[in-house]
Amino acid sequence: MARRKKIYEGKAKIMYEGPEPGTMVQYFKDDATAFNAEKKATIEGKGVLNNRLSEYFMTGMTQVGIPNHFIKRLNMREQLIRSVEIIPLEVIVRNFAAGSLSKRLGLVEGTPLPRPIVEFCYKDDALGDPLVSEEHIIAFGWATQQDLDDMIALALRVNDFMSGVMLAVGIKLVDFKIEIGRIWENDFHRLIIADEISPDSCRLWDIETGRKLDKDVFRRDLGSLSDAYTEVARRLGVLPTNVTHATKPTLIN
Ligand code: UDP
Repeated sequence: MARRKKIYEGKAKIMYEGPEPGTMVQYFKDDATAFNAEKKATIEGKGVLNNRLSEYFMTGMTQVGIPNHFIKRLNMREQLIRSVEIIPLEVIVRNFAAGSLSKRLGLVEGTPLPRPIVEFCYKDDALGDPLVSEEHIIAFGWATQQDLDDMIALALRVNDFMSGVMLAVGIKLVDFKIEIGRIWENDFHRLIIADEISPDSCRLWDIETGRKLDKDVFRRDLGSLSDAYTEVARRLGVLPTNVTHATKPTLIN
């Protein structure tokens, strides 16, 4: 592709200016980070898998009417998306206790929650993305009360959709994180799902064995992250051919 203007480079993705106003190109890198980038590695093929998996989930959401930024996949690592004004919050939905919730409240990982719980963290790496309350969000003007209601409704719809998709392939959706953005239509805005949905941002456990198929494999040194993501892609039938362990050209004698 011709030289493009880089808009932003994050830990796992790069955003480039899109071909038309209101669009961007989202490039998925192979970099994995955890614990606020204290732990880093390059996992060959991760970007390709996440590009495909995010495409799969976003396309499915479009089909059931959950608005999101995805327009189309461009190639192995890039997708065309609508540009949005990102709300500076990570929206987390939890069905079972795990990770920071387990730590905070002393709950055994895997404990079913009485109902899905939606949490918000303020997106600020320097502060370690702290958990914030609705009061904080309104008081500091990160979102309005209407935005908050819409965000919770959107997050719960994504939860129902993703839980069903995963259950169908024998995977339990423990929790996940989404990001939400505003798109402007004249003076009005509406909220749509942005960023990515992939095993980088979900906790996915095999229903039968409990095997972790998400970024905890990397965070907790539980084996091959690429094998785990490949397994998710394989079960969903979205495994691209010949790409995950990109083969080098072989010399034929
Ligand atoms: N998560 C994420 N990005 C973050 C923080 C969390 O994608 O910066 C996801 C994480 O993968 C998990 C869910 O959000 O699926 C809940 O994460 P938790 O609060 O338990 O944090 P962690 O234990 O990962 O620090």
